Amino acid sequence: MSGGGRREEVAAGLAAVQQRIDAACRAAGRTADEVTLVVVTKFFPASDVRILADLQVAAVGENRHQEAQAKAAECGDLGIRWHYVGGLQSNKAAAVASYADVVESVDRPKLVRGLARGAAERGAGPLRCLVQVSLDPPEAQGRAGVAPGELPALADLVASTPELELGGLMAVAPLGEDPDEAFSRLAGLREQFLVDHPEARVLSAGMSGDLEEAVRHGATHVRVGRAVLGERPSVQ
Ligand SMILES: *Cc1c(COP(=O)(O)O)cnc(C)c1O
Repeated sequence: MSGGGRREEVAAGLAAVQQRIDAACRAAGRTADEVTLVVVTKFFPASDVRILADLQVAAVGENRHQEAQAKAAECGDLGIRWHYVGGLQSNKAAAVASYADVVESVDRPKLVRGLARGAAERGAGPLRCLVQVSLDPPEAQGRAGVAPGELPALADLVASTPELELGGLMAVAPLGEDPDEAFSRLAGLREQFLVDHPEARVLSAGMSGDLEEAVRHGATHVRVGRAVLGERPSVQ
């Protein structure tokens, strides 16, 4: 496929998603500028990131350290912001902090030291972090995201770490649950969270299949892959 063809495809996907965001904002009595689109580029090549930057996309998301690191290096000239949204091993945390502009998936205290060290080595100021909270039923918790009961302590730890900046919360709706109900619970958790951390207003929630429900419940960032870029190439 020619580069021109791909650009048109991505531009069309982007326009369709932006329309969905606009409509969801209108329906929720919010303005479209309250919601930032993070295009999740995992499995897609650096050339797609280049196209997205050319189409004025400000932020991309990645969920695997090696792939993210390589792409960020290849796209260092673009000025696009890199959001790390994937599961994080504590021995990779410092490395992720060397290129990520936002780490959305902070879900346990063990990650904080490595992220802080990486941010200090990079020397670009405090690293913006979101705490990923689990919306799974209690018996399924522990996979990704801190359990709601442990959220306050983790948020306090991030907020009190000078190399890090607590930006807000991130969550993924559980498979098989109505996303409207899941994000409604998330909105309740966030209300409580904002009492302690009024500045940490980012709420990253909503993907290709449930961005409308997320916007209805206050998302400030939606993370969308397939609806912009098409079906992902099969798992590597
Ligand atoms: C892959 C991924 C997304 C994007 O999912 P789509 O269904 O492609 O929109 C969002 N958030 C996280 C954490 C992801 O891993």
